[in-house]
Amino acid sequence: MKIELLGGAREVGGSCIAVENGCCKIALDYGVKIEEASNQFPKNFDAIIVSHAHLDHSGNLLGLSEKNPVVVGSDITRDVTTDLLYDMVKIQSQKGNNFFDDQDVGKIKDLWLTRDCVALPGMAIQLYPAGHVAGAKITSVHSEGKEIVYTGDFCIHDTEILEGCNVDLLPKEPDVLITESTYGGIVRSPRNELIDQFFRQMLSTMSRKGNVLIPTFAFHRSQEMTRRIDQAMKDGVLPRYNVYTISNLAHRITGYFNENKQLFTEEVQKQEQPFEYRHVKHLYRTGQIKEPAVVICTSGFGHAGASLHLLAQWAEDEANSIILTSGYLPPDSPLKLAKENRSFKYDGDTISVQAEVEQIELSGHADQLELIQLVRKLKPKRTVIVHGDIEQAEALSEKISEMTDVCIPEKGEVIVA
Ligand SMILES: [Zn+2]
Repeated sequence: MKIELLGGAREVGGSCIAVENGCCKIALDYGVKIEEASNQFPKNFDAIIVSHAHLDHSGNLLGLSEKNPVVVGSDITRDVTTDLLYDMVKIQSQKGNNFFDDQDVGKIKDLWLTRDCVALPGMAIQLYPAGHVAGAKITSVHSEGKEIVYTGDFCIHDTEILEGCNVDLLPKEPDVLITESTYGGIVRSPRNELIDQFFRQMLSTMSRKGNVLIPTFAFHRSQEMTRRIDQAMKDGVLPRYNVYTISNLAHRITGYFNENKQLFTEEVQKQEQPFEYRHVKHLYRTGQIKEPAVVICTSGFGHAGASLHLLAQWAEDEANSIILTSGYLPPDSPLKLAKENRSFKYDGDTISVQAEVEQIELSGHADQLELIQLVRKLKPKRTVIVHGDIEQAEALSEKISEMTDVCIPEKGEVIVA
């Protein structure tokens, strides 16, 4: 099999890997980079495997609406990806870019096959639960007597609402393991300590009647965060406070979560409406906020939407807090600048950041120890490290190079399995 790294090599964003045998050609993910609107990827694929519904893995699919490949991924990946693509079409058309319309999104939805097992000419594809977000999958590709395992984004640790990936289920001794490395160089504190740290930050801001801004991705992280805060208020861990979500997209996705309880932990499944909240209100506009308040809103990187608007409004007041729960922030994103440079530009003005900016990584990726554990258990002949900045990829490479051949390919590089 020929493996070609089309995107997400030595960086996070725009994941896409072509795999081909003599008879067919597939893409593992077809993602977008947030700062690049146009799709540079080839379009001649028989099938696209979408690991999960984050746009850096699925955001370029509209470019295939005229090509009719089979799109493979879980039900919730299909439903959420479709909603994210509709949203993308809307945002682009507001900017005057009419590359695609709602019909293109509908075509992609119709091409979808929501199965865990797919046979193509000379090629068998199998999907396994990946942790990370609801419906995320690890993919194995079997062809010509060789096996490739592609992690997409994954984690082994459980989170409050989702079980981590069960590594024992994955095929052992693959010829090639292609793994993400977002946190390839980082050993994280146990999750319960991070959550305690998160609540401490909330409590200290609440005690001085400050506002807390929590920029969050609409899919999964928003529902997980909202449920966490709602539960903490029910349990008395946090006092009563105005808590809001602002994201129509997140609100719609929350509906899928209530309808698909089987995807989540046993505790979630026991509850009738596990993602219906008692202490958190959904708002449509930032103008409806009654301060002081905690607001969970999109975009997750703070580069648009309510999170950018509130960041600009609240950053100059030292009573306020901004809590970042993604460990990875794109270079030059307003949140990264707010944290590291303590200033960013908004609407032509320079905003000087006086609020506390706390980064507590709760993003559902494997850390270095989990990545090592994956390699130790799977025993791949060769490991290809993708989806991580070069420092992260190299730090991981150093730790696993005694167990497996390692390569950190550049974009465009071809590997033969
Ligand atoms: Zn992801």
